[in-house]
Amino acid sequence: MALPRALVALATALRRLPGIGPRQALRLGFFLFRNKPIAQAMALALKTLYEEVRLCPKCFRLISTGEQTCTICANRLRRKPTLAIVEEDIDADQLEKTGAFQGLYFILGGRFSPRGGALEQQGLRINELKARIMQEKDFLEEIVLATNPTADGDALTLYLLRELKPFGIKTTRLGRGLPLGGEIEHADEETLKGAIEHRT
Ligand SMILES: [Zn+2]
Repeated sequence: MALPRALVALATALRRLPGIGPRQALRLGFFLFRNKPIAQAMALALKTLYEEVRLCPKCFRLISTGEQTCTICANRLRRKPTLAIVEEDIDADQLEKTGAFQGLYFILGGRFSPRGGALEQQGLRINELKARIMQEKDFLEEIVLATNPTADGDALTLYLLRELKPFGIKTTRLGRGLPLGGEIEHADEETLKGAIEHRT
């Protein structure tokens, strides 16, 4: 028996979420139909998300539509000549939790992923990054490549080193305390703190 078209459409949408397989997507679809209040709250939250959240024009972290920039970019005390480049918002949040980094951020918002044997960039804000560095190149003294210590992260680092070389700004990487193959997102605070303090 064919499933109702709307349920299939929902399951298809859910499948596009990271870590969700076809069976799980369908189970979630059934669950949402059976639990209308949860589904309605979720629909409203999604609608509000796009109405009330936007990107910080400087670092591309998520901010509320009412804000000009994020609190870090707006904080004068953070105007240190150090810029940390991270892959995703959550990486900046993790670094913030350690309290060991006092500079500014740039969220690349994408990553390198193996595709057909080659590594290619996927939605990285490389042009925006270059524009930002160009604007601040007389002020910046250090760029921290806070990429994940994974194969993809290493490929991204090499790519960034090549792209940013013409700016002639000192470039550092997180210290090697982070477990190889692990991600910043899952690193514990102490390890991450050590990695920032011992960047080379
Ligand atoms: Zn910002």
